[in-house]
Amino acid sequence: MYVFRSISDLQQDLRAGHVTCVELVQQHVMAIKNASHLNCVLETFETSALASAQRIDENIKNGKAGQLAGTIIGLKDTLCYAGHKVSAGSKILHNFESLYSATAVQRLLDADAIIIARLNCDEFAMGSSNENSAFGPVKHPLDPKRVPGGSSGGSAAAVAAGICHAALGTDTGGSIRQPAAFTGTIGLKPTYGRISRNGLIAYASSFDQIGPITKTIEDAALLFEIMSGKDAADSTTATEPVPHISKSLNDKKTPRKIGYITECVEADGIDPEVQAAVKSQLHALQAAGHDIIPISFPYLDYLVPVYYVLTTAEASSNLARFSGMHYGYRSSEAKDLEQLYKQSRSQGFGKEVKRRIMLGTFILSAGYYEAYYNKGQKVRRLVQDMTLAYFKSLDAIITPTTPGTAFEFGKNSADPIKMYLEDIFTVQANITGVPAISVPCDTHSNGMPIGIQVMCDRFNERVLFEIASQIKIPQKP
Ligand code: GLN
Repeated sequence: MYVFRSISDLQQDLRAGHVTCVELVQQHVMAIKNASHLNCVLETFETSALASAQRIDENIKNGKAGQLAGTIIGLKDTLCYAGHKVSAGSKILHNFESLYSATAVQRLLDADAIIIARLNCDEFAMGSSNENSAFGPVKHPLDPKRVPGGSSGGSAAAVAAGICHAALGTDTGGSIRQPAAFTGTIGLKPTYGRISRNGLIAYASSFDQIGPITKTIEDAALLFEIMSGKDAADSTTATEPVPHISKSLNDKKTPRKIGYITECVEADGIDPEVQAAVKSQLHALQAAGHDIIPISFPYLDYLVPVYYVLTTAEASSNLARFSGMHYGYRSSEAKDLEQLYKQSRSQGFGKEVKRRIMLGTFILSAGYYEAYYNKGQKVRRLVQDMTLAYFKSLDAIITPTTPGTAFEFGKNSADPIKMYLEDIFTVQANITGVPAISVPCDTHSNGMPIGIQVMCDRFNERVLFEIASQIKIPQKP
């Protein structure tokens, strides 16, 4: 099997004729079959992938190949790809086929990427462990007793297991970064508004962003560049120019002011080995000439509550469209219209999604709206103001990505609050809209990867990638 190193190396190998796109597709179809025990692939798009591969091989011969020629990409099952099924990890979208491709997906296709499969995820991207998928949990490639993280667990596991070169995930509160941290891959949540959400099945629209999960920082930067930018189909996309980062990652590094949140790095309840790994990276960055500055973020305890108040409210509204009427699953037992709605939704949605729809409906209901939704919006503003104020004097903020490493199946599933606390370090970036990346920074004594998170000011992905590229896993004797 072709040994993938990076997308730019792949371009050279394809041009030199060391491998062809058709061979790559055949090899990955086989790799997907061999990794079926991980349950990360819901469907392999073999026919369309092979057809694209043949076309791109021709383009390569004619010197007309796009920047991503032959890059084998997996899509989280929340992203539309025209003519292919998409189900958001849910029974309610049973047999639904996308009528158009998400803008981000189309931009990859236009650059000659090959979409190989759709990947398992928590239902409607709600979860931190992939235990909430209607199609069964995804297993961690290094230890099948453990979760790969969620909700983009299938995407992270697929990249870690080498069954695609890169994958797309979506991140509403950490769903790209947390599984990336758990599986030793790189996961980017761009600035809110960088990448169009057109064609992404919405969970919480003011939080959702699409982003890449990759093996290298350079690949993450390249995919980011290609997918980013204004899109008429999503009015929240920004006109801000998209920086070209992937080619300049090896340039001389500027000394930066990097803050670390003491409450995250020093608090009890965080795995001591995760703490030690993050501290040792901070020392290494200091030794490399950066200013490392401890900062306090007293609102840390409010982040998870405000995230769950606001996202469940948005989810209850977004998920109202799944009625059993127009598409997807429809209960066959209903006798009248009301029963049809009720039964289709009761049977079509899973437990966690129902919990969130009910919570969100309660939060938005007359009499509670002021106390929960409005209060939540106010706290969101406080968190935004404080975070953005820090970026007036700091270039970046560092935290662990997660309080611990990949946990065992069942460990958090009986207690939703415990599961929600998994998101404590990742939700800040979604609440404020800033970009954040998780990079592997060490291995725990339990054998699991540890991730470190870098956050930067809005639209400052250039510095985000520059700092992320300086994080190196320490060599152990
Ligand atoms: N774990 C978080 C949740 O369940 C994050 C999900 C996400 O980012 N999609 O809401």
